[in-house]
Formats: sequence, C-alpha cells, structure tokens
Amino acid sequence: MTEMLLKYFREQQKQVETERIYNTQCPYCSMQCKMQLVEQTHVKRKTYKTIGRDNPTSQGRLCIKGMNAHQHPLHKDRIQYPLLKVNGEFVKISWREALDYIKEHVTEIQEKNGADALGVYGSASITNEEAYLLGKFARVALKTKYIDYNGRLCMSAAASAASKTFGMDRGFTNSLQEIPFTECIMLAGTNIAECQPTIMPYFEKAKENGAFIIAIDPRETGTTKIADLHLKLKPGSDAALANGILKVIIEENYLDERFLQERVNGFEEVMQYVVSLEFSVIEEITGVPLEKMYQAARMFGQRETGMIFTARGVEQQTDGSAAVQNFLNILLSVGKIGKPRCGYGAITGQGNGQGAREHGQKADQLPGYRSIENHEHRMYIADVWNIEEKDLPRKGVSAYEMIEKIHDGEIKGLFLVCSNPTVSNPNANFVKKAFEKLEFLVVADMFESETAKLANLILPASSYLEDEGTMTNVEGRVTLREASFPRRGEIKHDWEILCEIAKVLGKEEYFSFSSAEEIFNELRIASKGGIADYSGITYERLRAEKGILWPCRSLTDKGTERLFETHFAHSDGKAMMVPVSNQAIVPKAKITKKYPLYLTTGRVVSHYLTGVQTRKSASLSARNFESFMEIHPSTAKKYEISNQELVQIESSYGKIVVRSKFSEGIRPDTVFVPFHWADSQNVNNLVSEKLDPACKMPGFKVSAVNISPSVKRSSY
Ligand code: SF4
Repeated sequence: MTEMLLKYFREQQKQVETERIYNTQCPYCSMQCKMQLVEQTHVKRKTYKTIGRDNPTSQGRLCIKGMNAHQHPLHKDRIQYPLLKVNGEFVKISWREALDYIKEHVTEIQEKNGADALGVYGSASITNEEAYLLGKFARVALKTKYIDYNGRLCMSAAASAASKTFGMDRGFTNSLQEIPFTECIMLAGTNIAECQPTIMPYFEKAKENGAFIIAIDPRETGTTKIADLHLKLKPGSDAALANGILKVIIEENYLDERFLQERVNGFEEVMQYVVSLEFSVIEEITGVPLEKMYQAARMFGQRETGMIFTARGVEQQTDGSAAVQNFLNILLSVGKIGKPRCGYGAITGQGNGQGAREHGQKADQLPGYRSIENHEHRMYIADVWNIEEKDLPRKGVSAYEMIEKIHDGEIKGLFLVCSNPTVSNPNANFVKKAFEKLEFLVVADMFESETAKLANLILPASSYLEDEGTMTNVEGRVTLREASFPRRGEIKHDWEILCEIAKVLGKEEYFSFSSAEEIFNELRIASKGGIADYSGITYERLRAEKGILWPCRSLTDKGTERLFETHFAHSDGKAMMVPVSNQAIVPKAKITKKYPLYLTTGRVVSHYLTGVQTRKSASLSARNFESFMEIHPSTAKKYEISNQELVQIESSYGKIVVRSKFSEGIRPDTVFVPFHWADSQNVNNLVSEKLDPACKMPGFKVSAVNISPSVKRSSY
C-alpha cells in the first residue's frame, strides 16, 4: 500500500466520531458464521464493515459473502412499507389497510372454496421460531393442509435417507471438531469450497493430518482440488457408483461383521443384490474406471476411521433419497458410525436448512420432527396449541406439487415468506404461469423478487441484522442469532406479520407472542419428546454456551455431540440397510441425438440461492454479474463455440442464453450452469418437473440439452 493511501486511511480513522458494534450471524449458508457489523459515524457519513466473531463452528472465519452481507439490508431498494398492486403498479399503503385487505380476501376465498384453497410457502432461511410459527399459522389460523417450503428443493433427499437408515435426521452425526482427525473422507456431490467456504479448513487440517480424501463430482472444483482421488462420474450415476464401491468392499471383505450383526438390519439383502451386479455395467453407467472404484473402496475400507459427506450433487436427483441411502450403506457396511472420528454429514445449503425442516413447515410434519399422520403426535401438538385434534389438518403436498395445484386452480391464494419460487423451482416457465393464475398472492420479503413482482400485496420483512431468533446450523447446533440493528420505515419481523394476520383473522389467542423468545419457549414444549427435542435449550443457555447440538432433553442435558454411539433411532435400535438400484424408478433425462449433452447445475461462491439478496450487493455481484455455462474446450470446438461467447442452451422444457466459460476440468459430455439468475438466464427453465417419489425432490442435477452459439454466424 502506498504511503499516500495509508495517510488517507489514518485521516479517515481520525474522523470517526462514534462507533457501534452489532453482533449477528451470517444470513447465508448453513455454517451460520458469527459476525459483527461495525458502524462508524464520520463527520458527514456512515461506513460499515463486517468482521468475523469467534464461535465453535466457523472459529471467527468469514467468506466473501459474509464479509459483504451487510450490503443488502442497507440497500436503497429495501421494501419499507406494505405495497398493494393497483392497476399493475405497487402503491404504498398502511399496515391497517394491508391487514384489512388480507382479511377480506382470505375470508372470501375460503368461504367460496374451502380452507384448502389457500396455501403457505415457507423458507429454510427464516429462524426456527418463524418456521415453527408458519406451520402453526397454516394449520391453526388458516386451517389449510397446504404448506411446504423451499427446503424441499434442497434438503429433502438427505433428510428422507437419514430417517429411513438411522431413524432420525440430524444433518451431521458428529460435530465438525472430529473431521480433522478422521483418516478417510468421501465428499460426494459437494462443492464446499464455494458453497460453505469456512468449513474447508476442517478438511484441509484432516489432509495435513494424513487423511485420504475422495471427491465425487462430474467437474473439477475448488473442493476436488484437495482430493487425493477424484471420481469424475457422469451426472446422475451416484447410486450406481456407490454400488460399485460396495461391491469391492464386499469382495475384498472390509466388512465390519460384528457391527453389521449387532447394529444393522438388511445387510444380507444388500449383499445379495450388490454381488449380482456386473462391474462392467457400473463402469458403463458411471463412466468411472473400475480401478478408481477399487482405490476408493480400499482406502475407505482399510483405514481405521472415515466419514462420508453428501450434498446436492447426490441429492437433487429423482433417486436422490436412494442414492444417499446407498452412501449410508457403504458407511454401515464398514461400521464407521457411532464412534469417534466416524460418521455422516449432509452438508446443508440454506442458512437454517436443518432447523427449518424440524418444526412443522413441511407438508407432512409437526414440530419436533413429529408426523402429522401419527395419532399420538397429533394429540400432543393439538394439546400444546390448545385446539381439538380433529381440527388439525392432515398432510398436504410438496412444494412443486403445491404449484401444480395452483396451476390446476385448486389453490387460489398463497402466503409466501422469504422465497423466490418462480426462479428456484424446476420447469420455471410453468411455475411462473401458475403464479400468474393466483387470485391472491401475499409476499413477505425484503426486496421485489421476481416472484414478489407477481404479488397483489408485498409486506416489508426484516433482515438478519434486525431479526433475532435461533438457527440450527450444518452440525445440528442450535445458535442464537442476536439482532439489534434498527428497522427502517414500517418493516416488521416475519413472526410479527404472522401474529398480526392471525389477529385480524380472529385467532389472536393462539398467536399472542411479543418476542421471538416467547415463540421459542412454546417451540421447546412442542418439540419435547420428539426426535428433534429442543426442550432443554433456552436463550440464556445459548448465550452462555455458544450453541447446543440437539437433541437436548432437559436443562441439565449438555446436548448431543455424537449420535448413535449405542443405538440408532429406529424402535429396535438398529440401522436399516436396503438395496439400491443402479437405475432410478423415475427415469432421469437421457442424452439423445437431439439433446446430446448432460446439464448439471450448482452454485458460485459469491451468490446465494436465486440471488435476490446477493445481487443487491455491489461487491458480490461485481464478482459474478451474469450467469455462465462451463464447458470443456473439446466440446465447445465440436459446437463451434468460443470462450466467453453467448450460447443458447435448450432442453425439452425451454431455452436460456448465457456466456460460455471454458474449463478443462469438466467432463466433455457435460455442461454446468449456476442457478442464481432469473429470466433468460434461469437454468431452471431447462429442468424437468419429475420428482423423487420418496421425498419429492426435483431432479435438478441431470438434464439433457443441446447448445449452439446464440448469434448465428454467417457462412462464407
Ligand atoms: Fe459463513 Fe456461509 Fe456466510 Fe460464508 S456464506 S460467511 S461460510 S455462513
């Protein structure tokens, strides 16, 4: 730095009149890094910067997103007042008018069409308190069975697989602190270097300590670079690859027979099925050479300790749930779970991907990971909510299926909280048409997202800087996000908005909360005795103990660092293995003459989800201001595409145009496009509506496409 610049900064520092520090937590990924916003008042202006704060998970680290996270809540485009659409334009109205508008339309729609004509669409970025309250709001205030959330598109496959295999779903079976000391790590379909950057040092430390790292991904990424072995599989062949690895484990007998006998059901069936498979067929399906499968199986089987991590690469497929189950089959077959430095982790994408799936905003679920179809569970929650069990609606349908019901006219009105479904869902052109059919769309958000633009009414919602509450991070650690930054205009917290709507609907007695902590205290009771038991957790403890890993069943319970040490959560205490087919029941896109390339999708480090927040950050959007298509140069040559050229990508569902980006690290039969952009750059316009029958996860990770230069060149 030049002397002149240093002088400038010293002068600036001298001019600081006051400094305020706001403790908070990053709003983006599941690491939920603790941080501080530093506000300095100078003579004529205010400046802001975000710095990391020590905590057990991210240990003070922040990535580029966290460092710039203050830019979106401070942005001039924040919605600060209720906005009603009048003649196609949004006009500012009062809260009183907004609430009267909601009351009138809810009453009219439900009187004419029944309670289920209204739906609720939630989010995995909101706090546990708000996720809990949204589930209660749908079932008690609106009395509708139709509620689901955007975590369905993110975590449902891993959640379903862990529930089936272990009997419960907490993303990580161990705390992060064990990773540096494990001897073999399998990273299946996860690009943590870009998606959860502050987790990387745990894996780098493991490598320094001698761990062998296996990465499974169709592309080379920042994450595969730390791997000792990269299995560059064809998109969508994860379940088959796991079968290949299992077959070697069985053939070379790395099995932990005692563990299998004492703690696992179903191994014999898995063995019979896997032994019957041909290696040559698995090689053909996966594109992974047999010797690499042997190497992976030998390293994972022979080392004393090992861990497997999965993420969206494995999970966002029409057999995502089964594919994860097959990786868990590997883990169980070698007995690497329930003991130190051995275990599983589903690396959550969204900030509250874990907590938001535990407390009732899923279509089939009640708080504490209870089932809405289980009589005892219904009785318990009805009692906590002080309603009759018979008045509690039954299960609804998944997020995308709700959109189909909107399209069919069965759902006529929707409450949407902190989500942008017209961009994030598959078959996005259809989704937009469905939303345009709604008679009544109320959106609570910070910005006019692509979906909010379609609303009749937008309600101004608070940001992470302003909204206190608990979040449950990637480990299953419940943390308290402090938030004291002043709100502008007439912004309200999501939980306040829900309470006020409930009040005008005549349900005040069930929603008379005056703080997030009061809601949390009801959530604690509602979760008591459930799988995700938070009853021993209090705000006071969270402040003192810097987070607690659930289950935490009493005020003296320290929480649970490592799961399944003595028994799994199924009623007989055993884990369950099931054979997993190489082929999905719901077929995935196949490449053909017309659509000869695989398309897979994912994230870049500077953006989050559909980019509604990160595209408002100048520093972040400057790093990636537009989408792109990663392509192998040899493939590009075949299609006469140059580097950095606009390219049209077409599937049987739609077309988009993005810029090409050459990479030697991607499979020549595959292109990659990130999913953070809307409209003509929205890769979800190309993705099929087919869902995994086990968990209703869409198959985002495999489409078949054709590509061509966007501007046709004249031929001389
Ligand atoms: Fe931490 Fe994730 Fe935020 Fe980055 S995006 S600072 S890793 S929480």
